[in-house]
Amino acid sequence: MSNPCPFCQQAAAPADSLRDHVWSFPHAVSVLGRWQFYHGYCVLFSRSHAREPDELSKAERDGLTESMWWMARAIREAFAPRKLNYELLGNQVEHPHWHVFPRLAGDPEHLKPAWVRIDREEGHPGLLPGLEGNQASRSATIATLKATLARLGAPSA
Ligand SMILES: [Zn+2]
Repeated sequence: MSNPCPFCQQAAAPADSLRDHVWSFPHAVSVLGRWQFYHGYCVLFSRSHAREPDELSKAERDGLTESMWWMARAIREAFAPRKLNYELLGNQVEHPHWHVFPRLAGDPEHLKPAWVRIDREEGHPGLLPGLEGNQASRSATIATLKATLARLGAPSA
């Protein structure tokens, strides 16, 4: 029987087969998030499955958290956001994962959660390109993040 959890499936797959793969940490894997209106937005998921993060072992929890700080540092260095937002929700996918949203200068809704714009625009095909970014810009963002993480000495697995 296959595990239907999408993050477990991605955690088990070779990194070079993952769409939008950014970095493989010892306890977590980072991919570029869909909503690149927030330039540099990444999703970071634990290599281990749990419904709630506190169900992970201490090593897995600490590894996931430490990986998030590496992603935060890399996103800040690469894209100089005005602020970073961190969210761990798990309402749609019950597997520990962080959303790291850079909030750039000039975002007219910078006081609101990133999801406000996403929820409003994702159902409108004409607005999706502005929300997701094109493949060339996504690839460039991934390359910048990989180079920044490597330069910073982020642990990899
Ligand atoms: Zn899972």
